[in-house]
Amino acid sequence: MEYFPLFLKLTGRSCLVIGGGSIAFRKVSWLLRSGAVVHVLAPDICQPLQELANTSVLKASGECDKPSQVFLNLCPKDRFTRRALAELPLNQHFLVVAATSDEKVNQHIATRCQALDVHCNVASHSSLGDTILPAIIDRSPVVLALHSGAKSPTVTRYLKRQLEAFVPQKINVLVDWAENWRSKVKKRLPASGMRQRLWDRVLSGMAAEHLYDGQAACADKLMQDHLAEAETGHLHGEVFLVGAGPGDPELLTLKALRLIQQADVVLYDRLVSEPILQLLPASCERIYVGKRQADHAVPQVEINQRLVDLAKQGRNVLRLKGGDPFIFGRGGEEIELLAASGVSFQVVPGITAASGCSSYAGIPLTHRDYSQSVRFITGHLKNNQVNLPWPELAMANQTLVFYMGLTGLEQICQSLILHGRAKTTPAAIVEKGTTPQQRVISATLETLATTVAQQKVSAPTLLIIGEVVQLQSQLAWFNR
Ligand code: SAH
Repeated sequence: MEYFPLFLKLTGRSCLVIGGGSIAFRKVSWLLRSGAVVHVLAPDICQPLQELANTSVLKASGECDKPSQVFLNLCPKDRFTRRALAELPLNQHFLVVAATSDEKVNQHIATRCQALDVHCNVASHSSLGDTILPAIIDRSPVVLALHSGAKSPTVTRYLKRQLEAFVPQKINVLVDWAENWRSKVKKRLPASGMRQRLWDRVLSGMAAEHLYDGQAACADKLMQDHLAEAETGHLHGEVFLVGAGPGDPELLTLKALRLIQQADVVLYDRLVSEPILQLLPASCERIYVGKRQADHAVPQVEINQRLVDLAKQGRNVLRLKGGDPFIFGRGGEEIELLAASGVSFQVVPGITAASGCSSYAGIPLTHRDYSQSVRFITGHLKNNQVNLPWPELAMANQTLVFYMGLTGLEQICQSLILHGRAKTTPAAIVEKGTTPQQRVISATLETLATTVAQQKVSAPTLLIIGEVVQLQSQLAWFNR
């Protein structure tokens, strides 16, 4: 490790930024956020830096919550020669940031600081100084700082974006709450092993989620329950029923991703894509409860019971379902038993196949010219029949989205025609929507079944019927 990370208290300490452009502006902004007194020395000061200085005067006079100050000192360019720099009292400052556009000047500043033993950061070329100002994610009091050894600011920026999405926005609320509970928990659970298990449960579980949702009272209640359980030596687990979306892992919600990465055990079915399973921690036990029509690898009642049993064993259970758990996902059935058994659970919605597949196929589900409503329908066959209110479905100006409609495709199309929907109504099958294997097969109500039969189509597929389907030839964008 070439640079040692440290977090410094800069409140009231003097920092000098040499340079007045946009880079200097960014550095000054961060330094001010930590309460430093910042002096800027530059021949020109850019507008944003000027404005920052004006507002920091307000802060210094106590009109804002955190006093911090910036002093702008204009100076002629000739103050930046090596000789002139040698006369600058750099050692009056705790930190010097060289942010001029002249690399030679920056180099002189760094050399001078080294001689005086003053921390120096060279903004454009960190390896010239002895100090890196890292990329910062500020969720105070939680602060994450990153750098890539002055090698690639672009990689650092990329990582920062990834982490920004991952660190909960309200992590500060969690920190304050945990601080409040810390001594109470320690008193009631003197054994450090059980205490650690309790905190693991709380921080990766429902209590934290309640706090992020602004429900502090629920989090407190859960903590009381967990504490009481922990005192008996047995901590109950929780179940998260999470929608994994239609396939593309990028379509997971932030909450889903967070819970996936915290799971002790996952129960998943066939629709959950492999790239999503790869996001699970290596230590997470995987239980496949795959479902295919008429081929339920594990019967539904058994899945429901297993969720209860695993949670009662004290595990953090992730029930991962394709799309949205509450849309043709039997999510309701699974949580009914959890509720009846007193197991804590939470439901995280996912992008349902209708939304994901239609977007990735370039088929808007509603459109002012073609469709005023959309219906999500199951095309599942019961006794070889699709029993649906066909006269309603055959009405024009609406989009029909059939889940599980491949086997009954011909029956669906014929029934609609029989009840008055035009034979020429555009219709499409989206196969493996949102994945790299996505295919869209477009035809009409009259021809779709034959067209699909001619191509080797495999599940999962979504059937979309309505005038909006004609837009697909114009609007398709994915996998082009
Ligand atoms: N809860 C899921 C739906 C489960 S029913 C959701 O909200 O999406 C299973 C049906 O969903 C499949 O038969 C198929 O019709 C549809 N489906 C799910 N993922 C799909 C995908 N990636 N591409 C096409 N259809 C999909």
